[in-house]
Amino acid sequence: MNAFPSVVVGAGISGLLLARTLQAAGQAVIVLEKSRGVGGRMATKRVGETSFDQGAQFFTARTPEFQRLTATWVQAGAAGAWPGTEHRRWIGQPAMTAVPKALAAGLEVRRETKVVAARRRDDGAWDLEIEGQATLVAGRLLMACPVPQALALLAAGGTTLPEDLAAALGRLTYHPCLALLAVLGGPSAVPAEGIAPAAGPLRWVADNVRKGVARGVPAAVTLHATPEYSAKHYATPEAEVAADLLAAAAPWLGAPAVATALHRWKFSEPAATHPEPCVWRPELGLGFAGDAFGGPKVEGAALSGLALAAAAIGGA
Ligand SMILES: Cc1cc2nc3c(=O)[nH]c(=O)nc-3n(C[C@H](O)[C@H](O)[C@H](O)COP(=O)(O)OP(=O)(O)OC[C@H]3O[C@@H](n4cnc5c(N)ncnc54)[C@H](O)[C@@H]3O)c2cc1C
Repeated sequence: MNAFPSVVVGAGISGLLLARTLQAAGQAVIVLEKSRGVGGRMATKRVGETSFDQGAQFFTARTPEFQRLTATWVQAGAAGAWPGTEHRRWIGQPAMTAVPKALAAGLEVRRETKVVAARRRDDGAWDLEIEGQATLVAGRLLMACPVPQALALLAAGGTTLPEDLAAALGRLTYHPCLALLAVLGGPSAVPAEGIAPAAGPLRWVADNVRKGVARGVPAAVTLHATPEYSAKHYATPEAEVAADLLAAAAPWLGAPAVATALHRWKFSEPAATHPEPCVWRPELGLGFAGDAFGGPKVEGAALSGLALAAAAIGGA
């Protein structure tokens, strides 16, 4: 049986920063990630021969702590400013996954490792059932995935949380987002800085060529639907969603789509956030971090991972 002092579930920005901070403090930690790559919602996707940022489009750095981190990524060449924008919008370079990839270096991240159930043992440790693999034992279980996914793992293991914790976490629901990626046959009509005003069913229109992420095609447009449209059409066939979103974006396309791909983000952004930057219950050896704690988005998720690391180190 494999036993580990600390196991982080999720290699998004919160889980990676959490694991790095524990490791830097001399604590052994592994990260389990169900996908093939790291980064979670900081995702870059290939369609045909080119790349798109399909989740987070940019991030802000408002707090001194996150500004310091961002500066290290810029210095390492993994991040830079969005070209030609007046606002301070930071992007991954060459694409969004560059930041989580840099953070994963030097960590033990087990990819394609999906936790399907978490069960508390009599000795206080956690049994983690992994799809298609042997069970792992974790001294401390640190959940860095969307809260409904974390709660589902605990429920699948028959774990009952204290009432106050279950109620607080149960309130943390998320909006879905339908993301359409479209390669165009000619240059787009998106303004020079790469971002177009969004309206109707669209909340975001950007050209990855103008942003510097996509190469080798005339235009590569990311279209994000609003939470309302995404909830209503979450199960609508791909061709219908693509037709709707391309029609809404018509003023900014300038050329027909020659290839499209749709991604359905079930947990895109929290509908409500927990007031504290993380949850750490030392008596259970159980913690929660991510963008549903403290503040949303990339910066909120990052600060949440750091907060859980500090709490867990303090309570080790
Ligand atoms: C469409 C979209 C647009 C966005 N735009 C922006 C933006 O412009 N600016 C901004 O700042 N933020 C944006 N965000 C939000 C931002 O991406 C997130 O807030 C942030 O990346 C969340 O990080 P996280 O670590 O909390 O979670 P995630 O990135 O979701 O990481 C969780 C990880 O856990 C893994 N996981 C889940 N369940 C399991 C399991 N059972 N076993 C193993 N692994 C598991 C997942 O695969 C994932 O890798 C956007 C998000 C989306 C979806």
